[in-house]
Amino acid sequence: MPEKKDYYEVLGVPKDSSEKDIKGAYRKLAMKYHPDRSEEPDAEEKFKELSEAYAVLSDPEKRQKYDQFGHAGINSQYSQEDLFRGVNFEDLLRGFGFGGAGGGGRGGGESIFDMFFGGGGRGQQARGRDLRYDVTITLEQAGTGLESTIEVPRTENCSTCHGSGAKPGTNPTTCSNCRGSGQITRAQNTPFGQMVTSSACPKCGGRGQIIVTPCGDCSGSGRMRKNRKINIKIPPGVEDGQHLKLRGQGDAAGPGMENGDLYVVINVRPHPMFQRVESDLLLETPISFTQAALGTELEVPTLGGRAKMKVPAGTQTGTVFRLRGKGMPRLQGLGAGDLHVKVRIKTPPTLTERQKQLLEALAVEFGEKRKKQTEKEKSLIDKIVDEVKSAVQ
Ligand SMILES: [Zn+2]
Ligand SMILES: [Zn+2]
Repeated sequence: MPEKKDYYEVLGVPKDSSEKDIKGAYRKLAMKYHPDRSEEPDAEEKFKELSEAYAVLSDPEKRQKYDQFGHAGINSQYSQEDLFRGVNFEDLLRGFGFGGAGGGGRGGGESIFDMFFGGGGRGQQARGRDLRYDVTITLEQAGTGLESTIEVPRTENCSTCHGSGAKPGTNPTTCSNCRGSGQITRAQNTPFGQMVTSSACPKCGGRGQIIVTPCGDCSGSGRMRKNRKINIKIPPGVEDGQHLKLRGQGDAAGPGMENGDLYVVINVRPHPMFQRVESDLLLETPISFTQAALGTELEVPTLGGRAKMKVPAGTQTGTVFRLRGKGMPRLQGLGAGDLHVKVRIKTPPTLTERQKQLLEALAVEFGEKRKKQTEKEKSLIDKIVDEVKSAVQ
């Protein structure tokens, strides 16, 4: 963060300037940098800087604190909102061709507040509430990505009165108690100096306006509950627990105020076959003893279909084979992970008589000690071995 500029420097005035000179300097620069009329690329930043400098130097108490302690004296004492409170920007900028017209309260002062506090400055919630919506998808859907429509219950500005709460054709009046600021500020003298406290105006509830004729559709609240259909696009490769942020799709807070955001949280259901580790998938597949010993080509399931996999002769149980690129797509669009297939040798739980004889013969071939065979069994085994020999030749 760059260091904060000296307020006098910002306004281009000497430290001993009179209130009148400060005001004159501000008006001149504000006209040049007002974001509504300036072509300068950093006009808004400049205008903000100017206005803050003016807000401090035009207030004798704040100016004294600034002169004595610099920015530290201001930052420790005042919130951003406190800094600007009490400065009537609307009056100051009247006659510049922006703001102040119409008397509807949408003057220069308010738009300055809008700019500095994202629509706040009236003691109300400056922004609508953020919302969370949970979506559960399958691993296959996470693999391909998904476009869908969700129905989100949320608070919207009333479409009849556009959030003002006043019946169309009527206007809310400015609250006389707080003069439209929505805040009641009290200054108290304490042993530590003057303490300024502010609270929401009780008469208008912090809105700054009194609704004389309430809108019939929202009973004057300006807000309505709606189930809003929203299209979402879940990218391929999304992981369990990740979220989409949909800006401005949360609750509405009022006219001219920013909506909250909508967070769509993606839950990916566990898969009965595949286990996921980031962009890789793990699969366990049974193979027979003979497949493992002799080698084979297997067809294994992948997330999107099937793939062929070579199992070399002499494969041990627990061996993991990697199928490149058959895992989950990577979120950043950089290819896909791998599918790791672990083979497990399955012992047949039952055998036919013939299978049993064959395995007995094999056991003898391996030099394993077997129970004594009858002549009849021996000749049967010899016969089967001959059969097998001729079959593989
Ligand atoms: Zn309404
Ligand atoms: Zn009020």
